[in-house]
Amino acid sequence: MISTKTRAFLETPISDFIIPAEKVAHVLVGNSAEHALLVLTKTGYSQVPVLDTNFKIHGLVSSKMITESILGLERIEYEKLAHIKVDDCMERNVAYLRIDDTFKKALDLVINHPFLCVVDYDGTFAGILTRRVILKQLKKYIYQTLD
Ligand code: AMP
Repeated sequence: MISTKTRAFLETPISDFIIPAEKVAHVLVGNSAEHALLVLTKTGYSQVPVLDTNFKIHGLVSSKMITESILGLERIEYEKLAHIKVDDCMERNVAYLRIDDTFKKALDLVINHPFLCVVDYDGTFAGILTRRVILKQLKKYIYQTLD
């Protein structure tokens, strides 16, 4: 049976734990795959959100997606990088959280995603919640309940 304490933990709102939009590296729809690869390489992130100028989420792009889009039969066709748009290689099917969602929902989703995009009440991009942050909070909770 789930204790009252655990239930309260699971009901914790995620809003206090997100990395706010202004601190999230992102690319814009219409940017070239070359630009996205530069952002990914320079930041060291495995994937970043693809947004529009109104801060609506269109997808996620990773180095793997970009490399696959320029993979020829016998070689990687780097010369194509500048001509391909992130729109042509990004993943559009993105799992996301709402700003008023709880840890319970986040826990279910971070099993399959290293981070989740978070949207505001009006659907604009509010930031991300990473698996690392969720695990940190979970560890803190477990250690507290042991005491
Ligand atoms: P971390 O928990 O820091 O290892 O981040 C896991 C993943 O979340 C990274 O590989 C990125 O894809 C994404 N991520 C974390 N922080 C940021 C950020 N500030 N901007 C963009 N993406 C991020």
